[in-house]
Amino acid sequence: MSQQNYYKANLRDLSFLLFEQFKLDEIIGKPPYANWGKDEVLAVIEEAYGWVQKYLGPINASGDEQGCKLENGQVKTPAGFREAWKALFEAGWRTLAIEEKHGGQAGPFTLAMMVEEFMCGSCTSFNMYPALTQGAADVILAFGTPEQQATYVQKMLDGTWAGTMCLTEPQAGSDVGSATTTARRRADGTYEIKGTKIFISGGDQDMTDNIVHMVLARTPDAPAGTRGLSLFIVPKRRPDGSPNDVAVAGIEHKMGIKASATAQLVFGDSGGCIGELVGTTEQKGMSQMFHLMNYARIGVGIQGLALASSAYLNALDYARDRKQGSSIMHWKDATAPRVPIIEHADVRRMLLDMKAKVEGIRALAVKLTMHIDRANALEHAGDKAQAEYHHGQVDLLVPLLKSYGSDQAFLICATAIQVYGGAGFLSDWPVEQYCRDSKIFSIYEGTNHIQAMDLVGRKLMQRGGANVQQFTRDVGAFVAANKDHATFKDGVAVLAQAMEALTSTGGKFMLWFGGGKIEMVPAVANRFLEMMAETTIGWLLLEQAVIAEAAAGKLPADHPDRAFYLGKRHAALYFAHNVLPGVLAKAQVIAREDRSVLDIPAAAFAPS
Ligand SMILES: Cc1cc2nc3c(=O)[nH]c(=O)nc-3n(C[C@H](O)[C@H](O)[C@H](O)COP(=O)(O)OP(=O)(O)OC[C@H]3O[C@@H](n4cnc5c(N)ncnc54)[C@H](O)[C@@H]3O)c2cc1C
Repeated sequence: MSQQNYYKANLRDLSFLLFEQFKLDEIIGKPPYANWGKDEVLAVIEEAYGWVQKYLGPINASGDEQGCKLENGQVKTPAGFREAWKALFEAGWRTLAIEEKHGGQAGPFTLAMMVEEFMCGSCTSFNMYPALTQGAADVILAFGTPEQQATYVQKMLDGTWAGTMCLTEPQAGSDVGSATTTARRRADGTYEIKGTKIFISGGDQDMTDNIVHMVLARTPDAPAGTRGLSLFIVPKRRPDGSPNDVAVAGIEHKMGIKASATAQLVFGDSGGCIGELVGTTEQKGMSQMFHLMNYARIGVGIQGLALASSAYLNALDYARDRKQGSSIMHWKDATAPRVPIIEHADVRRMLLDMKAKVEGIRALAVKLTMHIDRANALEHAGDKAQAEYHHGQVDLLVPLLKSYGSDQAFLICATAIQVYGGAGFLSDWPVEQYCRDSKIFSIYEGTNHIQAMDLVGRKLMQRGGANVQQFTRDVGAFVAANKDHATFKDGVAVLAQAMEALTSTGGKFMLWFGGGKIEMVPAVANRFLEMMAETTIGWLLLEQAVIAEAAAGKLPADHPDRAFYLGKRHAALYFAHNVLPGVLAKAQVIAREDRSVLDIPAAAFAPS
């Protein structure tokens, strides 16, 4: 059983993002983050990184090997998971950004998400259990009655109980509104729950004696579709300790995240499953779930970032070490010295592609989470109007982070395997597990197509289009300030072109929506999401490069940060000249209004 821990993270990049690019120091040290200073934030990052290296890194590969087992209706998690759960909650990592009145440390959400990167990256499967528990607790905190909060939340935040989110049913995947699980009100105000949910992460485990399932179900006279769904708290054991009628019918055998139990749950098979409505009003289930989903989708983007980052850093180490072939400059000389593969241009291309995308996606994540923290700080100070701007940007960026972060994670992990060559295909190295584990990120929490439709169908027009206009203004302000920059002006010019292409393609969507060509929208929505994510990342990487160049200029020649800052310069230039032109190409593709995916009859794909 492998106890080898391969997890790696780039802590210097985190401190750069926090204090050089996004200026966390402007909002900490005063309410609502009064307990936090720069030293505390950096200490937490160091400590959390050390903690995951000790507790989670060593159970990642072994958890993958062992997987979960279902024995007598009870899931057994792999060795080390119970101990890790206990240690996690003793250390208090899950409550960094929780308010003090609920036992938390009232820290910035951005800091909690950086710690989340370590948790996901060091053992994705393990982290699914506490992350979903926190999501479930958040919903009860946001919408539950005071009694429900008193009964459930504290125990979930301190790890006594776990939680799950139960939406999916065999006939209701992306189409959540087709859920048929029923909830019938009983005389005492509780509900009798009946139905089957599938694919429930953490649906059962052996780390806690109770699991609080958050179940979407339909009351008898509720309308069809998502509007008719209500959300229920359905614990495995009722608060008095008596068992509820919740059975584990099976667990799935999966490509990745094998140590995260994905369970089929049957509620009320014997007619004795009791649930409580979240809050006091029926048919609010979907909007309550949406509150959670915004955070869950950020979490999935972070999962992608975490694995992509560790895959890149492991591939980088391997490429520095592995010797193969000689320099192209000596191609005629069979006796020329063998060089580390990092000396070969194609390996450098793969490494720089991974670096630029990983650091760009992390910048996108921190841009987003800093909008949340700034909105929180402004609301605390009574400035609701300015907070509104930040909320709007959060809404806009969430589908980009979830979708681009997850799609790229899988591709980056595959590129990491390519850097290793044959060794990468073996389970002796971590990258094949990363690749398998990362595939699910583009599927759950709303497939990436659902994200793309959310962006083009809802987010572009939110607040009458004001969010997009503000985003465009923010990018425009950067372009105006840096269009003559001595080092980056060419990159900034490509960014300006990408932004123009994005705006004109967004305009096309509006014409299609209004002009009877609505069927074109889903055919190209994913491509548009990619365009917007890449434009955002191009912008943020160039912003990093400008900051880095100014900072490097003040350092002595032998300062270790010089290499870090130089890396920022090359990552930004690589992205601007190798990825951003793809945004223009995608705009051209969309402008062609090609209908082949719409026009090909189902029978013409291949004989059935
Ligand atoms: C490991 C794992 C863990 C999970 N954890 C949970 C959990 O904890 N709780 C939970 O409730 N669920 C969970 N899920 C379920 C997950 O959220 C669903 O798998 C996901 O929502 C997609 O649903 P589906 O699998 O039924 O695919 P489908 O909805 O059948 O989709 C199949 C394909 O069709 C596309 N598609 C579907 N509808 C449309 C449409 N209208 N327009 C265009 N394209 C469409 C999809 O994008 C996808 O590419 C988990 C799944 C897995 C595999």
